[in-house]
Amino acid sequence: MEVLKYTDKHEAFRRRLQDFISRQILPKIDKWESEHLVPADVWRAMGQEGFLCTSVAKIYGGLEGDFLYSVICIEEMAKTNQSGFLTLLHSDIVVPYIESYGSEEHKKKYLPGCVTGNIITAVAMTEPGAGSDLAAMTTSAIEEGNTIVINGSKTFISNGINCGLVVLAARDPAVENPHNAISLYLVEDGTPGFDKGKRLEKMGMHSQDTAELFFTNCRIPKENRLGAAGRGFFMLMKKLQQERLTCAVWALARTEYILDWTLDYCRRHSVSGQRLSRSQAVQFALAEMATEVRMSRSFVERLVADHMEKKDVVMETSMAKYQTSEMVNRIANRCIDMVGTYAVDETCPLAREWRDARVMTIFAGTNEIMKGIIAKSLNL
Ligand SMILES: Cc1cc2nc3c(=O)[nH]c(=O)nc-3n(C[C@H](O)[C@H](O)[C@H](O)COP(=O)(O)OP(=O)(O)OC[C@H]3O[C@@H](n4cnc5c(N)ncnc54)[C@H](O)[C@@H]3O)c2cc1C
Repeated sequence: MEVLKYTDKHEAFRRRLQDFISRQILPKIDKWESEHLVPADVWRAMGQEGFLCTSVAKIYGGLEGDFLYSVICIEEMAKTNQSGFLTLLHSDIVVPYIESYGSEEHKKKYLPGCVTGNIITAVAMTEPGAGSDLAAMTTSAIEEGNTIVINGSKTFISNGINCGLVVLAARDPAVENPHNAISLYLVEDGTPGFDKGKRLEKMGMHSQDTAELFFTNCRIPKENRLGAAGRGFFMLMKKLQQERLTCAVWALARTEYILDWTLDYCRRHSVSGQRLSRSQAVQFALAEMATEVRMSRSFVERLVADHMEKKDVVMETSMAKYQTSEMVNRIANRCIDMVGTYAVDETCPLAREWRDARVMTIFAGTNEIMKGIIAKSLNL
């Protein structure tokens, strides 16, 4: 059934990562969740073992691996029952902006640190008044001689507290057409005028340091613009494809984790002297969920293969992001009902899975936006 062809090298990489996760991540998750932060040293440990930014070219210290290495990292991290250590955002969403649009100087300066985990990255698009409608952003970037002066604020920025480097979207107020007004900039932590706000208290993803970012007369060198001036909107639209695909891979893998855990629980747990898994009602529910997950995997794997072949999969990517993010919520909810009271106890992994899954229909483009893209692709 599996579409993707993993080599022995991929499988060896997966085994090394699983070993790293069991030693360095799993024992620490409850602490991160209660402290609402993943310490930066864990990022460095992961980077030093070669598990960050696997696509980065060898000349910048990377593995120069294909997208299957990213899929392996996303899948294995999805089985850790936490969303705070958001390596997929850094490795497969933000750093690719530098790989694709950065100058040679940008790449030499930043990519090695991104690979080792010394630099943690974030992407800042969303503003209090501009979420789905990115063209409505108001954060301004005005050229003054050799510098760019930035003013405005961003919100709901993942890795917002830990980040050492931000890919920032901002507009030139002198350009009327919003699609030609937005550019992308690299802003380093510590730049005067760049301040990190408070860590946002969310209903889930407790160890994820989602934060507000503020820019007040923040001056950066003109060379910190990524790619051509005014092309930011198009770069975002292009890169959002891989972002949505990674979200689909992640949501699918988390659903598999939830279902596997519940299958195991139902096989072991008895009610009125009978294993839950011997009840036909439970069997049918699990059979329905297993079918949905298996069919979803076939679709997502085909999509990953097409993405690797650089095919145009805009509609399919939107379908996958929409379907998998709804599925993970539906299945988390249903599994909680099947397990009963224990499922809402904080020691049960389902409690955190259910909380963390909720936002997946919202970020990386809401599912309403996904359906709009699908409808447009269907010429409706
Ligand atoms: C945990 C978390 C992490 C995030 N991380 C980041 C990050 O790292 N960087 C970043 O830049 N942003 C990030 N975001 C922001 C995220 O991308 C936005 O929340 C998302 O784009 C939706 O924007 P909004 O919440 O402002 O909703 P809005 O755009 O205000 O939408 C509100 C409602 O209207 C609907 N809607 C809007 N437009 C349309 C339309 N055209 N047709 C139909 N319905 C529509 C939406 O679907 C939604 O239901 C994060 C958000 C969360 C919750």
